Amino acid sequence: MQLDNKVAFITGAGSGIGKAAALALAKAGARVAALGRTPDELQKTVDAIKHAGGEAMVVQADVSKPADMERAAAEVVEAWDRIDIVFANAGINGVWAPIEELTPEEWQKTIDINLTGTFLTIKYTAPYLKRRGGAVIVTASVNGTRIFSNTGATAYSSTKAAQVAMSKMLALELAPQKVRVNVICPGAIETEIDDNTEQRDLDKVRIPAEFPEGSQPLTGGKPGTAAQVGDLVLFLASDAASHITGTEIWIDGAESLLR
Ligand code: NAD
Repeated sequence: MQLDNKVAFITGAGSGIGKAAALALAKAGARVAALGRTPDELQKTVDAIKHAGGEAMVVQADVSKPADMERAAAEVVEAWDRIDIVFANAGINGVWAPIEELTPEEWQKTIDINLTGTFLTIKYTAPYLKRRGGAVIVTASVNGTRIFSNTGATAYSSTKAAQVAMSKMLALELAPQKVRVNVICPGAIETEIDDNTEQRDLDKVRIPAEFPEGSQPLTGGKPGTAAQVGDLVLFLASDAASHITGTEIWIDGAESLLR
């Protein structure tokens, strides 16, 4: 699973799954463009890669802004002349609340970052990917495909389900140019995402039955790690996955089989 000479464009690379994937891909030889909004965090990812002998650059951009994303893709190609791998991963949990209390602004913010952000990430990198073929990996969630027990995550789950549909549609559209598009669906993974989540009044919509929330049979109930997801991204980005496209892969220690 070597990625020598490849350039990887990774959104949300300053923390969690994006950072883990950046480290994994860089270790396999890829040059990594670490994209996000917070330069300090991104710089830490870049420093870690450089410390390990790899090559990386910070790209400051907000995935929900078209002008940012168009400029970001051009900036990477100007520096390294190519983009081979795109990891559309940036995302937020946003506000989880009963539907009557979720404001249109809160709904829209989750759509803008998770869904429009994925669209813009792929839209502006696609012309470069098509030059030589490549790999796109999108981070959705089990929450948008199989697990709907996190009541109140209406906006989040809607974006995650739509990311799966978008990925499959683009897998077909981009197949003639040898661009593979796959979508990963993590279960609970230990990252900082929950620190940035607002959960409001969920007791009002909690489903009554007891259910083993977040349990992952493979790990005795513990969540997975970002590094485990990073390894999956490396596999999908590499030639070891050369005939895999349009696929959604759960990485959840069998969590979704419990529901
Ligand atoms: P995280 O909060 O550590 O990472 C998300 C990253 O996205 C952060 O670095 C954040 O700064 C960045 N980001 C947010 N909004 C952005 C914007 N507008 N522009 C650019 N960057 C932005 O959390 P994570 O768990 O690593 O999340 C990564 C992805 O994994 C998300 O799409 C999330 O929905 C998905 N996911 C996470 C879990 C989990 O349990 N952690 C489970 C399923 C899916």
